Amino acid sequence: MFLKSLEVFGFKSFADRTRIEFADGITALLGPNGCGKSNVVDAVKWVLGEQASKAMRADKMEDVIFNGTESRKPLNVAEVTLTIANENGLLNLEMSEIAIKRRLYRSGESEYYINNTPVKLKDIRELFWDTGVGKTAYSVMEQGKIDQILSSKPEERRYIFEEAAGITRFKVRGAEAERK
Ligand code: ATP
Ligand code: MG
Repeated sequence: MFLKSLEVFGFKSFADRTRIEFADGITALLGPNGCGKSNVVDAVKWVLGEQASKAMRADKMEDVIFNGTESRKPLNVAEVTLTIANENGLLNLEMSEIAIKRRLYRSGESEYYINNTPVKLKDIRELFWDTGVGKTAYSVMEQGKIDQILSSKPEERRYIFEEAAGITRFKVRGAEAERK
């Protein structure tokens, strides 16, 4: 799966609409401490549906909204759009390009979109099941994550293998069926 572009607006330090295009190969972000490199990674995790403010290195989720500087007023909404190439059909939607968008207002209201159609968080989750992308998956390997995986309990580590084996969707559906 290839990321094509990431657009951030009002998210953390990105007060201005900022677009990053990912070319083939490796993309590296360089810059001095505090310039916003990790915020870019946070934006990717966030748009994929991360619900833990801690994972965003924030006390509460509203803290991801640009909160102003000496010369700029805070904004009232954070928005991130991730565009993914889907020519190989890995994501189960018949579209060659899929754009996932998440918005959060200061009121706490949040919105998700797939190709500009409003959807639920659950729809985003389901789209990425068994792709290695997403909240409990392994596509974002930040500092300490490898250690965490190695030292985790076997039951926790099993999620990673289930995701890689492509059986998460069946497990989730099975659990849902049992509850009914
Ligand atoms: P390092 O090289 O130290 O890891 P970095 O480039 O990864 O630095 P980030 O952690 O991405 O830096 O960015 C931190 C900056 O983002 C800080 O200056 C912080 O003030 C700013 N920031 C975080 N949240 C917000 C927000 N809601 N509004 C405005 N600025 C924010
Ligand atoms: Mg950093």
